[in-house]
Amino acid sequence: MSLSATNPPGTPSADSAAAQLELRLPDLPATQRLAERLAARLEPGFVLFLSGDLGAGKTTFTRALLRALGYTGRVKSPTFTLLESYELPSFRLYHFDFYRLSSDRAWLDAGFDDYLGGSGVVVIEWPEHASASLPAPDLRLRLDFDATAGDDARTARLDAGSPRGLACLKALRAAGAAC
Ligand code: ADP
Ligand code: MG
Repeated sequence: MSLSATNPPGTPSADSAAAQLELRLPDLPATQRLAERLAARLEPGFVLFLSGDLGAGKTTFTRALLRALGYTGRVKSPTFTLLESYELPSFRLYHFDFYRLSSDRAWLDAGFDDYLGGSGVVVIEWPEHASASLPAPDLRLRLDFDATAGDDARTARLDAGSPRGLACLKALRAAGAAC
């Protein structure tokens, strides 16, 4: 995993630069290491959005997150169920996938908003499909294929939306050299 600044020279403020981070993930273990680093920063109430095309690695990332948090059972994609939840030692983790969600209304009708703002960690794939109903996350992670660097290469773009999201990025930057 290597670091590169997303903000070109002359962009507005140090604050906006601090709120974004772009990482090159050359292979699957690099994605797993990123998940391990983020797992260490998660706390009750944390909301993480995962974006990117089908097959980019959102579910794979979440699986690595759960493994890093000590979950050893099966981690299924919630593509059809919309939600899979996991009881972890320090909190519950709710893993949503809204790929098949037909509308914002469907999210509200299913009562999913009850999960936000609680004591669980919430991870949402395809948050764009319920965009109007969702609050701003602590952190957004976008995974993109990086075809120029091989089939398994990805680019990770992270955007912080809260002080604890910013703290995550700070920790990732500090760990960057060791990735
Ligand atoms: P999504 O949830 O974004 O649709 P999945 O996580 O289900 O994607 O699938 C990603 C696939 O790509 C998995 O088969 C995974 O093993 C593979 N893969 C290869 N390289 C990477 C990588 N660097 N990061 C994440 N997944 C990778
Ligand atoms: Mg998925």
